[in-house]
Amino acid sequence: MTSSRTFSFEFFPPNTPEGREKLRATTEQLATLKPKFFSVTYGAGGSTRDRTLETVLDIQAGGNQAAPHVSCIASTKTGIRETLQHYRDHGISHLVALRGDLPSGLATAGEFRYAFELVDFIRQEFGRHFFIEVAAYPEYHPQARNALEDLLNFKRKVDAGADSAITQYFYNTDSYFHFVDECTAMGIDIPIVPGIMPINKFSQLARFSDACGAEIPRWIRNKLEAYGDDTESVRSFGLDVVTSLCDRLLERGAPGLHFYTLNQASAVSTIWQRLGL
Ligand code: FAD
Repeated sequence: MTSSRTFSFEFFPPNTPEGREKLRATTEQLATLKPKFFSVTYGAGGSTRDRTLETVLDIQAGGNQAAPHVSCIASTKTGIRETLQHYRDHGISHLVALRGDLPSGLATAGEFRYAFELVDFIRQEFGRHFFIEVAAYPEYHPQARNALEDLLNFKRKVDAGADSAITQYFYNTDSYFHFVDECTAMGIDIPIVPGIMPINKFSQLARFSDACGAEIPRWIRNKLEAYGDDTESVRSFGLDVVTSLCDRLLERGAPGLHFYTLNQASAVSTIWQRLGL
């Protein structure tokens, strides 16, 4: 394994003191795998602002690098500026910059419409202080008018100053490598790190996938459906599928892996071990 690859783990900010305590233990366990950073999600419109910061500070207190997500939809420039100043004052220099999604039915008032405007704003206000990650969609974003426009919109984020990208999860390596080839052909040369979603529970995965437009291939869906409540078989099959996915991605040159951990260490640790990382 080459050390230039980037491995990272994503958390969401816990809701309760018990959840916070548990996440500290998860962080400690995953820190032994020496990821480059832990990222922490952020509710659209700033709904998790305080908990995201709290989680990020917990991660840093354990001697690990943390990268808060910042979403800009339904936000003002003043609000985003304050949040970023706060992060900078706490020694944070790594961000995941996103548009975010509002719950359906909510109005989208705010001063940003798209993530590229946020990236541009961060560069204008904070220069090169932050290393900026953005989102990429190998199966294309569900709201994109078409695949080509989505690609051009991804390029806008890179042109605005993004340093690296993390993809939406997928289970089809061809979609990822096709996307990377398309980006390369357009002159995009930032790392595009695959986002990896371990499979723990079919109903949860189906719900996420419906919401974000990530495809669960038919053979995986059928197999998971057939296991029903047999959680051990789901777990075991999920580990096989995701380990093989990661293996093929790294083998063909992916620049690292970003795991959507859902605040759990066990699946990621097993996959990590099996990959021999
Ligand atoms: P954008 O890059 O702005 O793209 C959104 C849509 O707008 C796309 O369809 C794009 O093609 C289109 N678009 C972009 N620019 C233009 C333009 N100029 N004209 C017309 N159309 C345009 N959500 C959260 O709320 N909190 C999180 O913490 C969070 N973390 C995430 C982490 C990762 C790694 C990923 C992949 C997603 C995450 N999300 C998070 C979800 C994300 O906010 C949604 O997928 C959202 O719908 C799009 O965000 P974006 O930053 O990709 O938006």
